[in-house]
Amino acid sequence: MTGIAVLGSTGSIGLQTLDVIRAAPNRYRLVGLAAGHGGGALQAQTREWPEASVWAADGRPEGVSPRRWMDGGLEELSTADGVDLVLVATTGMTALPAVLAALRTGRRVALANKETLVTGGHLVDALLPADWESRLDRLRPVDSEHSAIWQCLRGERLEDVERLILTASGGPFRDRIPADLVDVTPADALAHPTWQMGPKITIDSATLVNKAFEAIEAKWLYDLPYPKIAAVLHPGSVVHSLVEFVDGSFKAQLGLPDMRLPIQFALSYPERHAGPARVAAPESWDPLTFAPLDPTRYPAYAAVRSAAEAGGNRGVILNAADEVAVAGFLGGAVPFTGIAPLLERAVDRWGVDAEPALNQVIELDAEVRTSLRADIGLKEDR
Ligand code: MG
Repeated sequence: MTGIAVLGSTGSIGLQTLDVIRAAPNRYRLVGLAAGHGGGALQAQTREWPEASVWAADGRPEGVSPRRWMDGGLEELSTADGVDLVLVATTGMTALPAVLAALRTGRRVALANKETLVTGGHLVDALLPADWESRLDRLRPVDSEHSAIWQCLRGERLEDVERLILTASGGPFRDRIPADLVDVTPADALAHPTWQMGPKITIDSATLVNKAFEAIEAKWLYDLPYPKIAAVLHPGSVVHSLVEFVDGSFKAQLGLPDMRLPIQFALSYPERHAGPARVAAPESWDPLTFAPLDPTRYPAYAAVRSAAEAGGNRGVILNAADEVAVAGFLGGAVPFTGIAPLLERAVDRWGVDAEPALNQVIELDAEVRTSLRADIGLKEDR
């Protein structure tokens, strides 16, 4: 029986995690629930799992007894008695301190959130074993691409890997010429062809910043250098990612786009079991097509990749600047084509080569956010 705490339990990944847990009550015990808002969704969960500890960013929800309330927030919830595994599906970098605390106290972490590694990959890395199989057992990817790579790597030696190849749907604008994108609206960008997701990650999928963040995530998960982490366009989202080996062999992991599969694998590893994810036989799949990812068509992707390679504090800057840029785009203050230049300017302004400590990560994040919001005339945060 694995005791699981779900951070971000009312978001899309959180809800799908609860589906997986609900379907296998003999394997998983839900021991903690945390959400940004203590509204109706969280309250319903606290009634369904009356033994679980609870935390919400906006205060103790009505009807939740003080006995269950985790005053110490995500960190206390993640390290509470009975927690074996923390599933992190919060937004932004809010869960970074809790992830560090969970790893430090021997918990396993299933990570559905990229920002934790984009901003604090170097801090997480310091707490993980070098051997890749134990490393991935402690820090388990939930992102579909990284789960695919993890599944392909099982039984292999990391030194035999030529390249990891992340698949990208290419977003809604993959067939449009870049000059055409000046006046795309938030509604255009929010129409993602295959995955149903929140607005921030959907815009990040249109700019492919999401894919560049996934390269950063891959670097820290698998401890491989950036030149070994490639990306390819694959509009169907059936091949979730591939690994190329030094002998020329490729392995891929395939399935319908349904996040309950990678979520469940992160919970059940090293075993597999039947679960709620949708299944369809290969005869029903669309033909598998691949195309090169041309970085000149995706300038924000190129900007994030080159800043990430330079390392230092740049992941923190990119994460904060991208959140402001996307909020600015959704609010009409930044054109779609203004996102990449905003990221580049931020990296030029704050980038240094030294890796920041946790308190410096938090300070830099706040500084970048506040300055850039003022620059583009956005008022309150979130
Ligand atoms: Mg992904």
